[in-house]
Amino acid sequence: MKIIIDRIPEEGLDLVFDEKPESFPVLNEIEASGECVFPEPIHNELTVSRVRDMVSVKGTVETRVRIPCARCLEDTELPLKKRLNIYFTRNMPELEGPTTKDGVEIRDEVIGLAPFEGEAIELDEVIQEQVVISLPSRPLCRAECKGLCPRCGADLNREPCDCDTTRYNEQFAALKDLKLK
Ligand SMILES: [Zn+2]
Ligand SMILES: [Zn+2]
Repeated sequence: MKIIIDRIPEEGLDLVFDEKPESFPVLNEIEASGECVFPEPIHNELTVSRVRDMVSVKGTVETRVRIPCARCLEDTELPLKKRLNIYFTRNMPELEGPTTKDGVEIRDEVIGLAPFEGEAIELDEVIQEQVVISLPSRPLCRAECKGLCPRCGADLNREPCDCDTTRYNEQFAALKDLKLK
């Protein structure tokens, strides 16, 4: 989604639009790696406005992801939603060390600066970034997922197995005691 800056009205531009996951190269790469699948369009609700010589983009990016549960490996579908607040600027400040181009995450909201040149800004890279940031690092099918048996690999959500896992549990308990001390 490209926005011509001259066409942004004084009061700002409210945009509600969907984009296919296939139109984002990084999301394609993630899907191709087998990590997860994006089964639905990316739904964007953004307000674009001019702030002096910058362009402010605020709003939400949301979609869903199908991803294996970290405990039981069963595919599970989870909602992804990210609030963003990005300022596009022609003059990125010179910073030492890692640049802040990717934004700083403050309380579930990404606030940052993005560079642009010419007469238009391209929203796709920023949108793609929000989806990538919101991917869960440890997705769970449900909070109480019992996971797989460490011995036989049985899915303990379906049925308990006959393995004697007391030894594992004792070790785990010992570990917990250690951490408490
Ligand atoms: Zn699970
Ligand atoms: Zn077992």
